[in-house]
Amino acid sequence: MSAVREQRALVVGAGLAGAAVCAQLTRRGWHVTLLDAAAGAAQAASALPVGMLSPHVTRAPTPLSRLSALGVADMQAELERLLPPGQGWQACQVDNLGHDPGRWPAALVRPAALVQGWLREAAATGRLQTRWNAPVARLRREAGPGQASHWTATDAAGRELAQAPWAVVASALGSLAVLQDTDHRLGLDALPLRPVKGQMSLAALTGPPLAERPMRNNGVFVPLYEDAGLAPDWPTRVWSMGSTYHRGDASTTLSDADHERNRDSLQAMHPDAARHMAQAARAGELMGWAQVRCASLDRLPLMGAVPDVEALQTRLSESAPRRGGLLLAQVPRLDGLYMLSALGSRGLTLAHWCAQQLAAQMADEPTADVAPDLLQALDPARFVWRRVRKQGRVGA
Ligand SMILES: Cc1cc2nc3c(=O)[nH]c(=O)nc-3n(C[C@H](O)[C@H](O)[C@H](O)COP(=O)(O)OP(=O)(O)OC[C@H]3O[C@@H](n4cnc5c(N)ncnc54)[C@H](O)[C@@H]3O)c2cc1C
Repeated sequence: MSAVREQRALVVGAGLAGAAVCAQLTRRGWHVTLLDAAAGAAQAASALPVGMLSPHVTRAPTPLSRLSALGVADMQAELERLLPPGQGWQACQVDNLGHDPGRWPAALVRPAALVQGWLREAAATGRLQTRWNAPVARLRREAGPGQASHWTATDAAGRELAQAPWAVVASALGSLAVLQDTDHRLGLDALPLRPVKGQMSLAALTGPPLAERPMRNNGVFVPLYEDAGLAPDWPTRVWSMGSTYHRGDASTTLSDADHERNRDSLQAMHPDAARHMAQAARAGELMGWAQVRCASLDRLPLMGAVPDVEALQTRLSESAPRRGGLLLAQVPRLDGLYMLSALGSRGLTLAHWCAQQLAAQMADEPTADVAPDLLQALDPARFVWRRVRKQGRVGA
């Protein structure tokens, strides 16, 4: 079916995930309509002023450390290809002071610059349409007589926003509401996405950098980031410390308590810089930025075809597989519906590599060079599949 269906997709969400998907699909000749609830691209977590791209090093390889090795190399190539250094990113090294100590090659990146770069590239193909201020409340699958099925995105008033034979949900935490309200009632258990609020503290840097290079332990200290593309009312030369972690918190309000937490973490890494931060706070010069990360229960992204939980339920009621006998590949999927969400704290590392795999799946391209167990570790159907294998049923 996928081979003959028109290569036209709607993508919901214009952060790192959605923009990378747009770039990957339009590169392959697909037509894409990108929808976002906000007035423009990169307005949520991807509005992060400066993030760290660096490997996730572990003693023994884990899916995340393997993904991270692939993703960092891929993203580094994207940065070099898309953006001049100093206009959205700068290469650096980072001193890891806590777990797995060492000095690693890294980059400081303003994600919005990448998002804009990918969208510019996609628009240059003539195959990208964008719709801002377009909050998707519902995705509905429809098929007229003799027609291939397609997905229609509607707003809360039921007005049609866009429709296409394929849809990709890349709306971070918002993915849950969009997918839950399909005709297929994907539950929280099937897609366990969680908010993790984070606050970064930063201020203008007027003198020399506060340290030679960035450091990481409980948070990342960036002694200097220079970028004319930071928010219009912000300085172009800043230092930053962050970010805090509040699991289960989906708010974006700045708090003094979180600045204090960041100061404590900085104190443990670089006491002089922590003093500098306290001075900036006293002088009213400390700035903050808070947003919400979207994380999954096993801290890995959800990338791939969305499971059809109802069809799975029906199949199980008709012929229950032997306990543990169901294969992940046998979980039925919603025709033409894909997702890329739960990039957690590693959107910079994971967005483009995952988007590449997603587009390859949608276009039915071979993924022979990627270890199958890694793709399975990202499969959005893994949670419902694990439950069936463990308990023999879909629901709790
Ligand atoms: C404080 C903090 C520090 C971080 N530091 C780092 C770091 O150092 N390194 C790193 O790699 N990552 C870091 N991250 C994580 C990184 O920012 C995210 O992983 C990444 O931005 C997620 O991209 P995304 O596209 O999945 O989500 P988002 O950028 O949040 O985009 C989701 C989009 O979907 C839209 N949307 C939602 N619901 C709907 C709907 N119903 N209809 C239409 N549109 C909708 C939203 O408007 C939004 O534009 C940090 C995050 C935070 C909060």
